[in-house]
Amino acid sequence: MSFRLAIVGRPNVGKSTLFNRLVGRRLALVDDQPGVTRDLRESEGRIGPLRFTVLDTAGLEDATDESLPGRMRRLTERAVAEADACLFLIDARAGVTATDEVFADILRRRAGEVILAANKAEGQAGAAGIAEAWGLGLGEPVALSAEHGEGLADLAAALAPLIETKAETEAATAEAPETDVDVDEAGESPEGARVPTPARPLQIAVVGRPNAGKSTLVNRILGEERLLTGPEAGITRDAISVATDWDGLPVRIFDTAGMRKKSRVTGKLEKLSVADALRAVRFAEVVVVLLDAATPFETQDLRIADLAEREGRAVVVAVNKWDAEPEKQAKLKALRAGVERLLPQLRGVPLVTLSARTGQGVDRLRAAIETAQNVWNRRVPTAQLNRWLADMVAAHPPPAPGGHRIRLRYMTQAKTRPPGFVVMCSHPDKLPEAYTRYLVNGLRADFDMPGTPIRLWLRSRS
Ligand code: GDP
Ligand code: GDP
Repeated sequence: MSFRLAIVGRPNVGKSTLFNRLVGRRLALVDDQPGVTRDLRESEGRIGPLRFTVLDTAGLEDATDESLPGRMRRLTERAVAEADACLFLIDARAGVTATDEVFADILRRRAGEVILAANKAEGQAGAAGIAEAWGLGLGEPVALSAEHGEGLADLAAALAPLIETKAETEAATAEAPETDVDVDEAGESPEGARVPTPARPLQIAVVGRPNAGKSTLVNRILGEERLLTGPEAGITRDAISVATDWDGLPVRIFDTAGMRKKSRVTGKLEKLSVADALRAVRFAEVVVVLLDAATPFETQDLRIADLAEREGRAVVVAVNKWDAEPEKQAKLKALRAGVERLLPQLRGVPLVTLSARTGQGVDRLRAAIETAQNVWNRRVPTAQLNRWLADMVAAHPPPAPGGHRIRLRYMTQAKTRPPGFVVMCSHPDKLPEAYTRYLVNGLRADFDMPGTPIRLWLRSRS
């Protein structure tokens, strides 16, 4: 049976918006009218390769009533009972409200698996709410923007092990029905004992312009003519990611090239490639931007790299067809300069030259991907950060607009994947962009985080 995910939360946190995004409907369908009576909505949802059933309680409540009427509570409890897991949504901009606490309470008592997500977290406005959400005692909040489609990869990362576990449990109980009871008991034990989740493969997307060599590279990694051997029409959009063991590193590669090969049939080649790149980027933890050494940094390349940065992915720039490059030394210099100039938002991004055709340099790509993923996951201890902040401020104090010095009081790392930091300061709105850049570049250099997007949020102490 398909994995069932219930979206729950108080009115107006974005449940419908998320539902529509997961089931692939347009945002225009969000119902702005509160109190519309419907039954539990149910539809097939997907994120990247994940498939599941989504249950939605949105639109069933009276949005003007903050007291969580009995109907809403009953409905939530029904959704909880019918689902394998609950996706509990709060509004990161509004922070945790009393009604959220009531929901958290129901979920802590009734639900098996709960994924906590702080929605409306695009931009800076969500940082406080995300920090508060920790206090609900439901684990690490996933920062989401249902409206802008951000954070879906993190949601997928939280969801994938639950779906896999259910599939495994079902397979096990199908083979041996007598273990049925044990599994149920394990799921409900007070310690919250769970079936151990298998190690998840590293999710990689290879993106780039048509003809950069994506298929050749993915085939090289897979070690077989996998992408090209399928009959053209048979390469479906469902078979878009391929798992493999890349010299001991379990990976899952999102195959945009295979999708394009399909689109070639319909002739919509150029048009599809950016939309495909976006889907691939959202799926991935590490994005490999593949350039053609003969024509690097075309507009589309820069757009794709920028997309990966904005989506908060770890990025590796790979320059393909190095075998055919006549002036390797000079070219390398030009490429390095090009990255610094054209992709300042990804300063220090790893640059790997390779030949997908001969295989030369592909092992270095693998190493760069592993490093990028480690950097993306890096957590800097708070004490170290605050010593660093004091040094940075001493070396270069923030300005004093109108005679009022801006004080940077304290900082902490709020999240990883990518690294995100919160700085408590007076008058956050007055701190110039240039100072934020100084801090971000400093973090990059001093804590060795090249190439990863770094998020920095300024907050006044509340
Ligand atoms: P529901 O009552 O929980 O189903 O919430 P809706 O999906 O109807 O969303 C409530 C409001 O929040 C709507 O105006 C949405 O456009 C808005 N909204 C939903 N998701 C986001 C988001 O990620 N960011 C922002 N800024 N607004 C959002
Ligand atoms: P995709 O459109 O990005 O999937 O690109 P393909 O993998 O289909 O490759 C496009 C063309 O570039 C093909 O003719 C490949 O043979 C060629 N190509 C791919 N990798 C290399 C390489 O490392 N060196 C050279 N010289 N050609 C390559």
